[in-house]
Amino acid sequence: REEYLQPDKNFLSPGDKEIEKALRPLSFEDFTGQRKVVENIKIFVEAARKREEALDHVLLHGPPGLGKTTLSHIISNELGANIKISSGPVLDKPSDLAGLLTNLEPNDVLFIDEIHRLNPIVEEYLYSAMEDYKIDIMLDSGPSARTVQITLNPFTLIGATTRSGLLTSPLRARFGINARLEYYDAEMLKTIVQRSAGILSTPIEDNAAVEIAGRSRGTPRIANNLLRRTRDFAQVKGDGTITKGIAEMALNALEVDKNGLDLMDNRILLTIIEKFNGGPVGITTIATACGEDGETIEEVYEPFLIQEGYIKRTARGRQATPLAYKHLNITMPGRLGS
Ligand code: ADP
Repeated sequence: REEYLQPDKNFLSPGDKEIEKALRPLSFEDFTGQRKVVENIKIFVEAARKREEALDHVLLHGPPGLGKTTLSHIISNELGANIKISSGPVLDKPSDLAGLLTNLEPNDVLFIDEIHRLNPIVEEYLYSAMEDYKIDIMLDSGPSARTVQITLNPFTLIGATTRSGLLTSPLRARFGINARLEYYDAEMLKTIVQRSAGILSTPIEDNAAVEIAGRSRGTPRIANNLLRRTRDFAQVKGDGTITKGIAEMALNALEVDKNGLDLMDNRILLTIIEKFNGGPVGITTIATACGEDGETIEEVYEPFLIQEGYIKRTARGRQATPLAYKHLNITMPGRLGS
């Protein structure tokens, strides 16, 4: 299939991973945008430090690549605490979680990514840990089995999720701080692109940074990935400087269109319009028709397409808007001539 020949803008080679690490902001000052969230968290962190207590548990939600992991690292840095990292699907059994929890030092941070995917048994086990810093551990098995209660060091759980709607209410209720990360505007992304180019010692023209920023789906991770690929083009096809021309060449080669929509975005819109008369159509049906996983469409593609006004969520499914028709240069039925 044709798209497999295209470099995947989300693919990270080992070299890319090194770069991604180098680009990761380490302090609140380096973290661009999300001002309201950052200002609040800064205050909570400072207060916790002053009281020498663990910070309240934090829930970070929002689409992938907006900085949830980055912010969690920054919070632990600024708390002067260690951070232990895990994720919902990895914590299979209560004993996996117990192992992590009992190894935390006072006021450490435990980061659980994709917390909406925790096994319900593990999740329940987490409740008492979050609430009273206590867990029950089963000793032995069979007739001599008994449980002992262990008191944990005070800690902060930072949960990250792309789907806060899937969180159970008991879990949600145990987070004292709840913050939603929003898509970044072009100005913020331009700052991020310029900062990253500086770290990579790659000269970039102002309007080239604007070009990359405008085509990054409001997402710093995508902005950094596009920057890396554009830098390759600048080194091979140019003199190393990222100019607007080089940026356009690279972005077109990556099939990111003028409005920043990628192949899958466009395929989703085209599917709704051509196969389902513009909708409304259910997400599972769209997913099957596009050959993409429904959850990915819901987590990654749909939020941006809705925010930018290309699709609408209705009670009966997703519907393409006039903007989607305009974007794809297709005449909207019943609007001939307009
Ligand atoms: P998430 O956990 O939400 O999926 P990450 O924290 O992994 O997102 O962020 C992805 C990448 O984007 C990081 O490596 C980081 O370099 C960059 N990034 C995210 N947010 C910012 C920001 N506010 N300022 C600068 N770079 C950012």
